[in-house]
Formats: sequence, C-alpha cells, structure tokens
Amino acid sequence: MKVTIFGTGYVGLVTGTCLAEMGNHVVCVDVDADKVAGLERGQIPIYEPGLEPMVTRNHASGRLRFTTEAAPAIAQAETIFIAVGTPPDEDGSADLRYVLEVASTIGEHLDHYAVVVDKSTVPVGTADRVRATLRAALDARGAKVEFDVVSNPEFLKEGDAVNDCMRPDRIVIGSSSDRAIAQLSKLYAPFNRNHERLVVMDERSAELTKYAANAMLATKISFMNEIANIAERVGADVEQVRLGIGSDPRIGFHFIYPGAGYGGSCFPKDVQALERTAKAHDYTATLLEAVEAVNAKQKHKLYELIERHFEGDLKGRTIALWGLAFKPNTDDMREAPSRYLMEALWKAGARIRAFDPEARDEARRIYGEREDLLLCDSLQETLDGADALAVVTEWKAFRSPDFEMLAERLGERVLFDGRNLYDPEQVEEAGLAYYGIGRGRSA
Ligand code: NAD
Repeated sequence: MKVTIFGTGYVGLVTGTCLAEMGNHVVCVDVDADKVAGLERGQIPIYEPGLEPMVTRNHASGRLRFTTEAAPAIAQAETIFIAVGTPPDEDGSADLRYVLEVASTIGEHLDHYAVVVDKSTVPVGTADRVRATLRAALDARGAKVEFDVVSNPEFLKEGDAVNDCMRPDRIVIGSSSDRAIAQLSKLYAPFNRNHERLVVMDERSAELTKYAANAMLATKISFMNEIANIAERVGADVEQVRLGIGSDPRIGFHFIYPGAGYGGSCFPKDVQALERTAKAHDYTATLLEAVEAVNAKQKHKLYELIERHFEGDLKGRTIALWGLAFKPNTDDMREAPSRYLMEALWKAGARIRAFDPEARDEARRIYGEREDLLLCDSLQETLDGADALAVVTEWKAFRSPDFEMLAERLGERVLFDGRNLYDPEQVEEAGLAYYGIGRGRSA
C-alpha cells in the first residue's frame, strides 16, 4: 500500500518505518528540512532501540523516503497519516495548529480518494475539525474529491517504540466508514496475525480512548507517589508496600513505582488536555486535577531532600546527577524530572556534573554551554569533586554501582535515590547516607 506520513518525530518515524518493513511504500513528510536532510543521509534524529537498522534497511530498499514536499507525497498516497505534535496551549488544552495545517495542506493537493488518519493525540471532536478543514481546502479550489477521516490513536512507548509498533497490544480504529475501516484493516493485517488486535469504534470514543489510557497510567503513578509521601511520614517503606499490593492481580506491578514524578511529552500534556476538555463541557475532573497536583509536587521531591540534607546551603556545592532523559532507553527530556531538579539546584547556586547514556546531546541542545553544568562521558567522571549523587532516571547501567567507591569519591557521602533503585541498608553499610522516595527514613 502507498502511505504518506506527516510528522517525522517519535510516532511518525517509527510508524513509517514499521509500515515500510511490512512491504508498504512510505513517504515521510516533515517541515523540518534539517531533520529530513539528515534522515536522507541516514542520520536518525532520535534514540530508539532497534530503529536505526530498520530505517537504513527500508531506506536502502526504496520503500521509505523522506521529504519536505507535501504535494508529491499526497499525490502517491492511499492512506495519509497525521503524526505531528499537539503541544499544550497556554491554558493546557491541546494546540491543534499543526494538525489542522496538515489537513489544509492535504486539501490543497488531494485529487483522489484517500483515508486520512489522525494518529496524533487529539481531543474529542478533532476528526470533525480535520474533516471540515480538509473539505474547506478542497472547496476553495473547486475539487470534488472523496475522503474519509479516521481516528487511530498511537499507544507506542518511547524506549520500546519499535517493539510496540511491530507487536501492538491493540490497534484502535475510530470510524463509521466501512471503506476506511476495510482499508486500514488491510494495512494493519500484518501486525494483527496471531490474535485479533483491532478494536473498531466510533471516532469520538477512539479519541477519548487515548486520553483515558494515558490518564489511567498517570493516575497509577501519582497514586503511588501519594502513598510514598504517606509512607515516609509514618515510617513505612513504600517498596514493601508496592510488593504487597502489586501481587494482587487486580492491581498488578506495572506503573506502581514511586519516583521523581512522571514526565515526557505525553502524560503531563494529555492529563492537562483531558482536564481542559472536561472543563469545556462543564465538568470538573477532580481526580485528574489531583493527579496533576501530586505530580507537580513530586517533581520537586528530590530537590527538597537535597536542600534539607544540606540545610538550605547549596551555594558552591557540586551534585553528580545520573540520568537526564525522562525515562530509560530514550533521549527525550521533555518535562523530565531531571530538568526540574537541575533548574532548582542552579537557582540555589549549585553546580551539576551529569551523565546520561543517550540524552547528553539533548541536554546540550536545551541548556547550551553553561558553567554550572558539565555533561560527562561516564558515571565515574560525574563524581570528580562532587559532594552528593542524585539518581534521577532508572537506566539499567545505574542499577549496581560500587557503593564503597561512591563513598570514597563523594565529598559528603550522600546518595539521593530518585527511583528507589537501591537497598538502603547496602548503601548505608558502605558508609553513605541514603535518601529514597517514601522509604520511612527520609521524612
Ligand atoms: P515530535 O515532536 O517528536 O514530532 C512531530 C514532528 O512533526 C516534528 O518533526 C515536526 O517538525 C513535524 N511537523 C510539525 N508540523 C508539520 C507539518 N505541517 N507537516 C509535516 N511535519 C510537521 O512528536 P511525537 O512525539 O512524535 O508526537 C506526535 C503526536 O503523537 C503527538 O500528538 C503526541 O501526543 C502523540 N504521541 C506521542 C507518543 C510518544 O511517545 N512520543 C506516543 C503516542 C502518541
């Protein structure tokens, strides 16, 4: 099948590559000319395990192409995906500017039937707006062309995106057009071979499904952070509590890890956007407001622990920081807890020596060169002249450090474990003070 994808970010690039891998002819369109030129030269703009060889292979076979030119890409397409960003607007609602821009562009060039697929995360009612925008652009040039708009939200996780895309848990198709449903079912058939993964529903339910999924996951995290904050005050260890509740299959172990708050490009903006949607329909989403409020507090948790340990005197201190990405296996630092921590430490006059296996370039892009940030090439290098260590992202490489060595190298012999990766007793036996999240002793 001939497919065109607008937006070559985490979602568009991974989706396009996986569709090409299944034998489709895919053109990826992006307005970012540098990104497109880089991809044409084989430079992958994001870190995503397994993506690079797949892009290279499909690009070399001619099934995956990158361009800034919308018109020829639309001319070839039977199915057109919209996978551009939907960042938060000033009031937290989703900014649909890029989505509607693409809808307009499609309407300016489309001359044959196509299925237009909203893959971006968009508020309920967006399929109607995409349809109206596209229709207006067709009408403006007097074109009588049939098309369908389908809501097909994406559920991939950064860090495991290729796997999620190749073996999705479910493929949600929101549409009332039999023709569009049949076309997308055919496109997705290779991803749907072993058991039925297609969930077909109406557009509005599909749009809401994506927000409901992310809001549920964010709720689990905030719930557990709330329990951690209570545990800390009553002298309980939230890690024991986690094991105690996760074994109940109705609760499960997924997404009940307390930590430094959720970040990334999706949960914060999607919870907010759903709240705003509810408000626009005269409903106050009390639970979602609480989820957000708990998370906002939690993102300052590590800083509070550090500030308390140093009795408010952080001027001239050096903090080693492990983990910049908002979670492991990605270079994405959007809304990352590390950013909240670094910015608070800088404000207090501290310096940072940071290491992340993949996000160093991204940190350099965001913060540029600054005197109070050294981006190190190894875990060991962060420790030179550092007073304390703060672990912010749970990369596997951080899981078993040599605590004796840490105790020798850290001026103040203190470890702040923002992900509860370590056994407090083992850390303390090595001669380090230990602070975790919700582990009784940190209150
Ligand atoms: P991204 O910021 O990584 O990529 C968006 C891309 O769209 C950019 O390269 C940008 O240059 C391009 N773009 C903007 N306007 C364009 C236009 N008019 N024509 C062509 N390209 C244009 O975004 P992302 O993380 O891939 O997210 C895309 C959407 O998918 C968002 O709605 C997001 O909420 C949703 N989503 C993201 C994830 C995730 O894990 N990142 C998961 C599921 C859903």
